[in-house]
Amino acid sequence: MNGRGIGRVLAVALAVAAPLGAGLIAGPAAQAAQVTTIYYTSSGAPDYVAQIDQGAANWNAAVSDIKLVKRSGGTVVFHETHSGGSYTNTNGHGRGDIYLDTSQVAEGNDPTRIAAHEVGHNLGLPDHYTGPCSELMSGHGPGISCKNAKPDARESAKVQANFANGFAATQAAEFHVVVY
Ligand SMILES: [Zn+2]
Repeated sequence: MNGRGIGRVLAVALAVAAPLGAGLIAGPAAQAAQVTTIYYTSSGAPDYVAQIDQGAANWNAAVSDIKLVKRSGGTVVFHETHSGGSYTNTNGHGRGDIYLDTSQVAEGNDPTRIAAHEVGHNLGLPDHYTGPCSELMSGHGPGISCKNAKPDARESAKVQANFANGFAATQAAEFHVVVY
């Protein structure tokens, strides 16, 4: 009878301990370290593979809670178009199709900046054409002399905040078209 009593007490203690342990693992510190991997596919834009890789690397260097990785079958897919301007059709949550316009590059626009800008839309950033060249999302606003392909501190912080809790996985959103 004593043995059964002790056994029951232990069972209750274990049942209480398990949820507490789980709570510690899922605490704020663990959530802050969450990294969302976003796969991109550049084979549909063969003229700009290196520029796309550089644009992705610029984002990876600026934001720690996303990681852009090149792979076939990615959720961000690059294509080329030959008129009408560069644009993306994206849900702003790490999914979308990006169209890089070869004629826009021929006019002098920097393809690395265009690629990184369109990725910015896929990471949830809107256009801000009145901004300076130091902003990635100012797009064509500063003119073709602007070659900056890196997000500024404010843009990086916005994406960092967007993905702090797994923006891509937890949010459903409609796709919309945004231009360079
Ligand atoms: Zn844009």
